[in-house]
Amino acid sequence: MIQFDNSWARDLPGTFLRVAPDPAPAPRLLVLNRPLADRLGLTLTEDQARDWFSGAALPPGADPIAQAYAGHQFGGFSPQLGDGRAHLLGEVVTPEGRFDIQLKGSGRTPFSRGGDGKAAIGPMLREYLISEFMSAVGVPTTRSLAVVATGQEIWRETKLPGAVLARVAASHLRVGTFQFFAARGEADKVKALADYAIARHYPDLAQAENPYLPLLDAVIARQAALIAQWMGLGFIHGVMNTDNMAISGETIDYGPCAFMEAYAPGTVFSSIDHQGRYAYANQPLILGWNLARLAETLVPLFDPSQDKAIEIANDRLTGIAPRYRAEWLTVMRRKLGLLGEDDGDAQLADDLMEAIQGSDWTLTFRRLADEATLRPLFNDFKKMEAWLPRWRARAGYGAAQRLAAANPAVIPRNHKVEEALTAATDGDMAPFHALLTAIQQPFTEAEPYTLPAPTGFGQYVTFCGT
Ligand code: AMP
Ligand code: MG
Repeated sequence: MIQFDNSWARDLPGTFLRVAPDPAPAPRLLVLNRPLADRLGLTLTEDQARDWFSGAALPPGADPIAQAYAGHQFGGFSPQLGDGRAHLLGEVVTPEGRFDIQLKGSGRTPFSRGGDGKAAIGPMLREYLISEFMSAVGVPTTRSLAVVATGQEIWRETKLPGAVLARVAASHLRVGTFQFFAARGEADKVKALADYAIARHYPDLAQAENPYLPLLDAVIARQAALIAQWMGLGFIHGVMNTDNMAISGETIDYGPCAFMEAYAPGTVFSSIDHQGRYAYANQPLILGWNLARLAETLVPLFDPSQDKAIEIANDRLTGIAPRYRAEWLTVMRRKLGLLGEDDGDAQLADDLMEAIQGSDWTLTFRRLADEATLRPLFNDFKKMEAWLPRWRARAGYGAAQRLAAANPAVIPRNHKVEEALTAATDGDMAPFHALLTAIQQPFTEAEPYTLPAPTGFGQYVTFCGT
């Protein structure tokens, strides 16, 4: 049983369309996240999971809807996107809060434009893996409840087996949701969304005399902290469009994302990101850019005087870069095993970035305290020879244990993800489950998952996964 309570459908009329998922013709459960189902208070058999999370049957109480949203995609505004291949089944209320249960890849909706509404097994399992890893290392993220193969073939560059992902999110309210209504001049809807966001994600703000500026501040704070955590992990989202930025502060929409191996700030994996807009080192800039788009939609709520409202908004936007920098420094202190705060920490971290160009991002931090295993990661160890004594002096006693607790040994390395998804597409789920087990205990050494890609894996490219 799933006890639904559908506040979006109830409280936000005019922001969605009612539409049922396509029934999968021959559903087969590929993976079910039983611990997550338990945490959400769901009681279901595997057969129910297979049917409910593939659209083959609607769980009682579901009220499937497709949400409207717009978005800046690679900098250009699309006034109408919306759930073109996703259906929000409803929400569940747990002691930890309210969560959406959404199907992705579950068929066409009025927002599908030219798309088929479907998804392939590979990209849905990729989202499952990466989101579960993010959760395991404590990064705010949507979760994955199940992936069900539909038994239907879909066409991409070639014929591929189709699948549906059941996704769990604090909500699917995006920057782009606000943009959709702001662009249409529907100020009442923008206000209704802001009130909904406050009630659901920032309830402490509800008492404020004007809660909308604090709302912007709160989203800035959560998103700055989030992107700093991504940077610490070497995570590259790949499509940081405004429709893929959640008001809750969770990482959302794992498409052509991947983890950087050798440290290079310009790293891009996505085949569609020709300009490198969403390159690793650009993510903090895009954070500010996207939040400016959110601020624009809220400006009328800040102050009756437009000039004053814009001034207030601009002031907040100027604060994003220093805020992010502070969050990044917090992340780096942890990654470097530093206790407390020292004025020299920022310089120490910046100098490390200079010294580790080209070495494995993940293992470098993991091995800082062990020069014998650190050295082989580098082609040129000169800068590290100068840097390490400074770090040792600052980090002091117990640094090795702190490094091991702060820096994962296992990340979803691209060659291992690719191997797992290729096998799954060919019907063999064993590599997927082995990788999943390893990334769910990311601080435990687990060869071969710990090791960088063999030379010859080449320049990794991810595809949009549509
Ligand atoms: P995404 O790149 O997954 O963030 O999606 C961007 C937009 O394209 C959203 O409005 C999606 O619903 C839509 N979309 C992506 N893939 C498909 C598809 N296969 N069919 C219909 N709409 C899609
Ligand atoms: Mg999206």
